[in-house]
Amino acid sequence: MAETPSGLGALYERSLDCVHCGLCLSSCPTYVETGREASSPRGRIYLARGVAEGRISLGGVASEEFYACLGCRACETACPSGVRYGELLEEARAAVEREDARTGPARGIEWFALRRIVPHPVVLRAFVNLLGLAQRLRLDRLALPFLPAALRERHRLLPSVPSRLERRPLPPRIRAEGEPRGRVALLEGCVMPEFFGATNRATARVLARNGYDVVVPEAQGCCGALQAHAGDADTARSLLDRNCRAFLDAEVDAVVVNSAGCGAHLRGAGHWLPGEGDDLAERVRDIAEFLVEAGFRAPTGRIEARVCYDDPCHLLHGQGVKDAPRRLLESIPGVELIEHADAAACCGAAGIYNLTHPEMSQAVLARKLDALSAADPDIIATGNPGCLMQLAKGAAERGLRARVVHPIELLEEAYR
Ligand code: SF4
Ligand code: SF4
Repeated sequence: MAETPSGLGALYERSLDCVHCGLCLSSCPTYVETGREASSPRGRIYLARGVAEGRISLGGVASEEFYACLGCRACETACPSGVRYGELLEEARAAVEREDARTGPARGIEWFALRRIVPHPVVLRAFVNLLGLAQRLRLDRLALPFLPAALRERHRLLPSVPSRLERRPLPPRIRAEGEPRGRVALLEGCVMPEFFGATNRATARVLARNGYDVVVPEAQGCCGALQAHAGDADTARSLLDRNCRAFLDAEVDAVVVNSAGCGAHLRGAGHWLPGEGDDLAERVRDIAEFLVEAGFRAPTGRIEARVCYDDPCHLLHGQGVKDAPRRLLESIPGVELIEHADAAACCGAAGIYNLTHPEMSQAVLARKLDALSAADPDIIATGNPGCLMQLAKGAAERGLRARVVHPIELLEEAYR
C-alpha cells in the first residue's frame, strides 16, 4: 500500500484508477441536479485523492461531498476504467468518522438510527411499536405543529407500520414442497421483518414451492450495510462477522437475499473480512437471480396488470443483476412488463439518505416519478426496502394509481 502523508494509502490507490474521462458524469444524480464538478464521481474522487495526499482537509467540502453522494454506484457501471467507487466512498467516509471531521444534524440522525436502533432487534422492535402506536392514535400528527420545520418534513418520510400479524417472525425452517432440490438460507434483514414481513414470507414460500428447504438462522442479524455506507467501519465489521458465522454454520447451498442493499453488501463481505467474508460472498444470491439460475416453476395464476420494474441501484449497479427480476415478472400470465425512462437511476432513498438529505432525495425522486407518471403502470415493482418505501410515498403523494410491491410478492400471488 502506498505511503501517504495522511496514512490513507488504500484511499489514494483506489483514486488512481480514475483517468478523469468524465464518462460517469451524466449518470450521477447529484451532478445532474447541481451541475457542480465537486458533486460528481470524478470530483469526489479528486477530493479523496487530495485528502489522501494531504493537500485537502478532510472536513468542510470534502466531507460534505462524501456524504452528499447517494452511494448509488451508477458511476461504477458507467466507468470504463473499473473504478471501485463504492469501496472508495466507504473508505473516505470511514476516514471522516475516524477523524471526527463531520458535524450537523445528518450525522446525529445517522449515529442514532444506525448505532442505537437498527442493529439491535429488541430496540428496533420497541421503536417500531411506538411509532405504530403513535400513528394509530394519530399522536404523530397532533405533535406535528410543535415540531421544527426540518423534523416536520422528515416525519412525512416515515413509513406506516404494518400490523403485528405481518411483523411476526419467520419460522426457523420452511420445508420444500415435494422432493427437495436443495437447502438454502434466507436473510431476514433488520428493517424487512418490521416493515416487509409479507415480502419475507412470500420469498420463503416461493423458495419452498420451487423445491428448496429454507432455513432462517436465528443467529443472523442486521448485515451492516447501512453502517458501512455511513463510515461506521467497526460496527459494520462486527455485524458482518456475526452473519458470516450464522450463515456458514447453516451449511446451505446458497444464502438468498431479497433486499438489494443487503445483497450487495454481503457480496462484498471479502473486502471487510478476508477469508470468511469471501466464503459467505460466494454463496450470496439475490432471490430473482437464484430462481432464474435454478430454473423456476412457471406460475399459472393470472395478474392482469401493466407492471413497471424499477431497478434498485444496489441490485443493478452493486450486483449486476438486471434481467432476472424482469424474467420473473414476464413469466406471470397477464403481466405486461413496460419499461420507463428512469428505471436505472436512483430513487433517492439510498439507505437513510432521504432523512439526512431530504431536499436532494426529493429532487432525485421527482425525476423518477415523472417517468413513472408518463408510463402510467398499474403496479411498480422493485426489490429493496428503502426503494419500496420511497416509491410508495412518492407515488401516493404524486397521485399515481399504481401500487408498489416487491417482484417476489407478485410471483407468489401468481403461484397462489
Ligand atoms: S454513487 Fe451515485 S451519487 Fe455518488 S458519485 Fe456515484 S453516481 Fe454520483
Ligand atoms: S468514468 Fe471512471 S475514470 Fe472516468 S471520470 Fe468517471 S470514475 Fe473517473
